[in-house]
Amino acid sequence: MRGARLWSRHPDEPLVDVKIVDGRIGGISPTAAQAAPPASGLVCLEAGGRVLVPSLAAVHEHFDSSGLGAAFRPHTAGDSLEELIADSRGVWRESSVPLIDRVRIAAVRTIASGATAIRSHVQIDTECRLERFEAMATVRDELAGVVSFEIVAFPQCGYLQDPGSEQLVDEALAAGADLVGGIDPCGLERDARAHLDIVFGLAQKHHVGVDLHLHERGPLGEFTLELVCDRVTALGMQGLVTISHAFALATLEPRPLQRLLGRLAEADIAVTTIAPMETAPLPHALLRETGIRCGLGQDGMRDGWSPWGDGDLLRRTRQLALRSAWSHDEDIELAVDIATRGGRAVLDASQRPRVAMTEDAVSGLAVGAPADLLLVEGTTVTEALMDCGPQRTVVRRGVVVADGGRVLL
Ligand SMILES: [Zn+2]
Repeated sequence: MRGARLWSRHPDEPLVDVKIVDGRIGGISPTAAQAAPPASGLVCLEAGGRVLVPSLAAVHEHFDSSGLGAAFRPHTAGDSLEELIADSRGVWRESSVPLIDRVRIAAVRTIASGATAIRSHVQIDTECRLERFEAMATVRDELAGVVSFEIVAFPQCGYLQDPGSEQLVDEALAAGADLVGGIDPCGLERDARAHLDIVFGLAQKHHVGVDLHLHERGPLGEFTLELVCDRVTALGMQGLVTISHAFALATLEPRPLQRLLGRLAEADIAVTTIAPMETAPLPHALLRETGIRCGLGQDGMRDGWSPWGDGDLLRRTRQLALRSAWSHDEDIELAVDIATRGGRAVLDASQRPRVAMTEDAVSGLAVGAPADLLLVEGTTVTEALMDCGPQRTVVRRGVVVADGGRVLL
């Protein structure tokens, strides 16, 4: 790769060439004024002075509810969780575009925006049964050459509120779902212990990780998180559990928050955020300081829950910086760090960011790191995020998988 701005923090930083060998960064050197032809056996990708960052990881998606690519549908749901669930359950089949095509459109847009790793939840309940899972698994298999793709078997309507869904999630896990989901053990399910018995029972049975939706705020969410920490420790599942949304962490007072963060770090529980509109942002600097892995996703996109979301994870990264009211370059760089290294660490605890991006040979931009890369217009990381330009090139394991908005299948 010739002429890139490597995690550039100043417009005058010199350009570099990045040698990629066997899918990894094999060397980084200043770009010579006179370009020599590439050595034999090498192919040259012109970066054209664009900013080089690690590729994005989209770690909280719901591709099976996406309305992208279909006729626009006005929002009809009420505001409570129960009303949103009921509305989306009633309308998910009503679309001008078949389900599998909507899943594919959402996935492809996400990859074209810069992502080489995806974790999507898929709704499983006693009405849709495994129909949505099967569509998602088909698209996952189609895209296996361009993206790493995990599926969470997600009981959107609850296990206890929708009897029979436990057996269906069990079947999805046997059929290749990668993680077991759960949702609001107190707020929706009204019986935290019974809900967590099911979630962790399925995780143990299938030897998979857990990704739990937790909208519960304040002390209620704190209580649930304490129970989850207890389970993770008792079962030795450190590094295998993610809490999605984790609104409690945005709504607790400083002292209980500090204590809870200590417990989450001890249990090595990750969190994901979607940079939500309706709740304060997570305490991202504190999470990074405490060593808690945190990644970014888009949640639903133009679905029964809301018309927001366009499949562009880089724009969602800008939303994370905007919602956090960040203006300083180092804060805005943290937003990109969360969307790249942060997400990868959610998917694989061994990739936790420990050093500066340009010294990180595990998932950053140093020699030895995987060549999972994103080129985007701009002279610095901050400018690139402010502009979110369309001329992006996405590289996975050293191979260009998307360019200028198109996925190369
Ligand atoms: Zn979600």
